[in-house]
Amino acid sequence: MTHIYNFSAGPAVLPKEVLTQAAAEMLDWHGSGMSVMEMSHRGPEFMSIYKAAERDLRELLAVPDNYKILFMQGGGLSQNALVPLNLLGHKPAGATIDFIYTGSWSAKSIKEAGKYANVNIAASSTTSVPPQSEWRLTPGAAYLHMCTNETIDGVEYDFDGGVPAARQDVLFVADMSSHILSRVIDVSKYGVIFAGAQKNIGPAGVTIVIIRDDLLGQALPACPSAFDFKLVADNESMYNTPPTYGIYIAGLVFQWLKAQGGVAEMERRAKAKAALLYAALDLDDFYQNRVAPANRSRMNVPFYLKDESRNEAFLAGAKARGLLQLKGHKSVGGMRASIYNAMPIEGVQALVDYLNEFAGR
Ligand code: PMP
Repeated sequence: MTHIYNFSAGPAVLPKEVLTQAAAEMLDWHGSGMSVMEMSHRGPEFMSIYKAAERDLRELLAVPDNYKILFMQGGGLSQNALVPLNLLGHKPAGATIDFIYTGSWSAKSIKEAGKYANVNIAASSTTSVPPQSEWRLTPGAAYLHMCTNETIDGVEYDFDGGVPAARQDVLFVADMSSHILSRVIDVSKYGVIFAGAQKNIGPAGVTIVIIRDDLLGQALPACPSAFDFKLVADNESMYNTPPTYGIYIAGLVFQWLKAQGGVAEMERRAKAKAALLYAALDLDDFYQNRVAPANRSRMNVPFYLKDESRNEAFLAGAKARGLLQLKGHKSVGGMRASIYNAMPIEGVQALVDYLNEFAGR
């Protein structure tokens, strides 16, 4: 049978070892006689799963002690509302949120935040990350929101360690949904980091929020209790029933990441995989990627055929070779290869071989 490589942008490929273990434990978790799906979230079995997941994620990202990790629901998009709802309670009415606009996901964040605050687009480009020196920040802004990897546009921040230089006077909020755990980051530079799980963490339905302690307890009165970061933190993500099975799978992914060598090793592999793929795209003008080289995403690689009339033939040939879900997002067209942590370099090599074959090289 043809080997399948799944290039979906998310929900996305998960490590085979994780799925195999989950299958083996599906009906009876560790002799408990229960599936993880059937367990009380407050019982000792699930609490041990939860605590291990939290501890392993903290270790993988070197999350400092003065940060809380929340396992929430609602996906990345809900955070576009929940972050303002949670951070604006102590700000004067009419506060401003600054944004760096780099593509589709920051555009959505900007639109949603406009319901709760004034928004200022401090810099914009959808083919590069504007240099920090050009950001026109609002003095006294509540915070600065950035999407550090634009999943659709394929634009990734590539400042030192993927993060801009910290500033005492600016609170950074980052949507890291599509590249969290793929590169070493300095969590202490951020006030809030959030990420939907369905790319590098686990199944859809879990949302990770990493928040500095002193930012808790600043929610607007209208913030729903189940989404109040302080209530969630005070209750170890169990103010209401958390997405237990998703947290369990995320925990297995974290164990897998640790066994593979952690985030530094993922970054090394991501660099190698991305370099291999972009080199094939750049070889001649048969394919095109329109992102400034320094900001090309290591996770999501959008590309176009020069002759777009061959798109369907390209996708059909890819599918016949077991290379799945390469169609680009409908808003931008073309193709997109998402090469998350769980995509082995063999999958990227198989795609490169096909790119060369299709181009008649
Ligand atoms: N932010 C980014 C960077 C994303 O890639 C996505 C999903 N592709 C979202 C937010 C939205 O996530 P969700 O569908 O989980 O709300």
